[in-house]
Amino acid sequence: MLSLDDLTYSYSQSHESPIIQGLSMNVHAGEFISIIGVSGSGKSTLFKLIAGLLEPNCCEIHIHGEKCTTNRLGEVAYMPQKDLLLPWRTVLDNCLLPWEFNRKPSRGHKKEVIANIQRMLERFGLGKYEHCYPNELSGGMRQRVAFLRTLITGQDLLLLDEPFGALDAMTKKEMHRWLLELWDDLFKTVLFITHDLEEAILLSDRIYLLPSEPDQGVQEMHVNLPRPRHYVMNYDPHFIQLRQDLEQRLYEKTFI
Ligand code: ADP
Ligand code: MG
Repeated sequence: MLSLDDLTYSYSQSHESPIIQGLSMNVHAGEFISIIGVSGSGKSTLFKLIAGLLEPNCCEIHIHGEKCTTNRLGEVAYMPQKDLLLPWRTVLDNCLLPWEFNRKPSRGHKKEVIANIQRMLERFGLGKYEHCYPNELSGGMRQRVAFLRTLITGQDLLLLDEPFGALDAMTKKEMHRWLLELWDDLFKTVLFITHDLEEAILLSDRIYLLPSEPDQGVQEMHVNLPRPRHYVMNYDPHFIQLRQDLEQRLYEKTFI
């Protein structure tokens, strides 16, 4: 679905002090992959590179096995760290944005698209809110609208940048259950940035850890827990072991 080979990126013109250095990654169709790393380790930058909002200094990015140089944004569904709902548009009109930006006959008539959005809003527990404005919604609801808008792009590869970072613990749990169910049904490939280790273990097939120093190399961890996943697994010895392992790898170098 996605492959990066030796990706390097620096914000400076002279390509000095790269934020990301020599990063390689392979993502298979239908996988749920979490990206973790300390703040400033380049997680959001990585998504901007995959989405084509930034160009790497070197590396080829392959999506669906094809080399993508331009228009990667057309190949992925990207949900940025801030929900970026337009405050002057209703829920329905916010969800229509991807269609408005990319009108093609193959993407259906406005009426069909609206009917589809209304079905999805119903499914997301937002049926009654289609004419509400973002400031009338709770944090969890806003995130669901932003997520729905991401799905409406119709892409198979979803890039979700800390989608639940700002939610309280209970809402976050509900959103996990909801996202796992949805992922099961829709057969999407998900790349998910989080700083919540339990969240990463609960949701993922694999976890990539970005290093705090770019030249230290990315680490990969397989989460061999059965599916469907459930919160009671938090107490499973294997789950606890994975969390300890992650904590060690993530923080051992940061705190000394
Ligand atoms: P993360 O999402 O892991 O917290 P980011 O990818 O947002 O990290 O940022 C990684 C590093 O790149 C940080 O040191 C940040 O200050 C720097 N950075 C982010 N965006 C820019 C930018 N537009 N110009 C220059 N430096 C940036
Ligand atoms: Mg970030």
